[in-house]
Amino acid sequence: MTTQQIGHFIGGNPMASRSERTSDVFNPATGAVTAKVSLATPSELNAAVAAAHAAFPAWSQTSPLRRARVMFKFKELLEEHSDQLAALITAEHGKVFTDAKGEVTRGIEVVEFACGIPQMMKGEYSEQVAGGIDAWSIRQALGVCVGITPFNFPVMVPMWMFPMAIACGNTFVLKPSERDPSASLLLAQLLTDAGLPDGVFNVVQGDKEAVDGLLHHPDVRAVSFVGSTPIAEYIYATGCAQGKRVQALGGAKNHMVVMPDADIAQTVDALMGAAFGSAGERCMAISVVVAVGNVGDQLVEALVPRIAALKITQGMDLSAEMGPVVTQVHKDKIAGYIATGVKEGAKLVSDGRGFVLPGHEQGFFLGGSLFDHVTPEMTIYKEEIFGPVLCIVRVPDFATALDLVNAHEYGNGTAIYTRDGNTAREYTHRVQVGMVGVNVPIPVPMAFHSFGGWKRSLFGDHHAHGPESVRFYTKQKAVTQRWPASTAAGAEFAMPTLK
Ligand code: NAD
Repeated sequence: MTTQQIGHFIGGNPMASRSERTSDVFNPATGAVTAKVSLATPSELNAAVAAAHAAFPAWSQTSPLRRARVMFKFKELLEEHSDQLAALITAEHGKVFTDAKGEVTRGIEVVEFACGIPQMMKGEYSEQVAGGIDAWSIRQALGVCVGITPFNFPVMVPMWMFPMAIACGNTFVLKPSERDPSASLLLAQLLTDAGLPDGVFNVVQGDKEAVDGLLHHPDVRAVSFVGSTPIAEYIYATGCAQGKRVQALGGAKNHMVVMPDADIAQTVDALMGAAFGSAGERCMAISVVVAVGNVGDQLVEALVPRIAALKITQGMDLSAEMGPVVTQVHKDKIAGYIATGVKEGAKLVSDGRGFVLPGHEQGFFLGGSLFDHVTPEMTIYKEEIFGPVLCIVRVPDFATALDLVNAHEYGNGTAIYTRDGNTAREYTHRVQVGMVGVNVPIPVPMAFHSFGGWKRSLFGDHHAHGPESVRFYTKQKAVTQRWPASTAAGAEFAMPTLK
């Protein structure tokens, strides 16, 4: 049997790669290699940027209304193909199908927002700012924009980027994660079927070599990155040094503060989904519970049986609550963190390392793990594990909880569970984190707001999607205009001021 080769999508067509470099794509539920993804050669990468560069003049001159109509059609096609997209996600990422469908829906919501682009690009106008002078500002497209995306949301995260970039009049090159590359090609085909002109959206598969090629390409104007913090820092520094506009979203360690007055049943339900959904491979997953006062004992008592009862199986089983993690390498890394936690003195109350799914012995499965009595010096507290491992840190009061969250290097998401309005208000006001949930465990903003963390969870000035994305994907131009009366009044040499 020949292994399937996954290639690129350039200039409106799928393109087989000539690269001799490839990377294995696995089905995480079975552990089998299902395909090999090509890692772009420099000439393939240049072809993708050239296609986007060539498509830019006509696309940026296309009226926003026409661009929006392509988005309307794209949304329709996405809805028709949402099962197919979700199945591709499950096959290569491993997350359960119902969760993959949720990911597709969150991506479609950004397309819905992009359909309103004529309204968002209207600009501002001031009449008569001085005698006979009007002033206005407009926003214009940048040129070729690039997206570099992580494995954990192969549909949603690219769709945080390209629908808005394209709706704003830019052209786009997507470099998806090499671990789950197939969904990007279906997205490209659907955009073409929706009437997007050839070259406006392109996909190049690849690794660091492709990323570096894009970061240094003279025709690339803007780079959006989502991934781990060390790579985000590198992308930001390199891209900025090359004169590009860059937004680079990084890793996370999201804390849920549980106050003694919280509704425990509701909190435990929320924690189970937020810590173990998608096997903890979400940048907004809750990985730390900050248990205030004596609430820690109640949480442990309630969580342990729930973790033992998690329905862990292959993701196409519609009753599945948790699937495998993405690769064997990642599974080993997570197991390594669990071993370190034990060594450093945390109390491992649920150990997911021994989990085996009968019939899927080679799959990359782990059970849920729970650590109690974790302290801020421990590696499992400081570092992002990105797996189904939840840590409980016990603190005496609200002030200590807040200080703990604020001292962490990451600031992506956080939540507070309480019945007290003033405590919740204080928390949302004082916490140094970009996205906050009050009795909501995963506060991912809707598409018409913007998504982004603080501190070492985001490098750059703009957050993703929502109104911030219009600013990121356009540059502003201010026009001041006078149509003078026919008699000349002589030159003026002082700085113009209102008269
Ligand atoms: P990753 O950083 O390994 O990879 C992200 C992208 O960078 C991929 O396309 C990859 O090919 C590329 N890449 C990898 N190594 C590179 C290198 N040395 N030089 C240049 N490019 C390189 O991340 P991942 O493992 O795919 O995804 C998980 C990470 O993404 C987690 O840290 C998670 O928190 C983060 N994430 C953050 C957000 C957010 O919104 N802040 C959202 C999703 C995921």
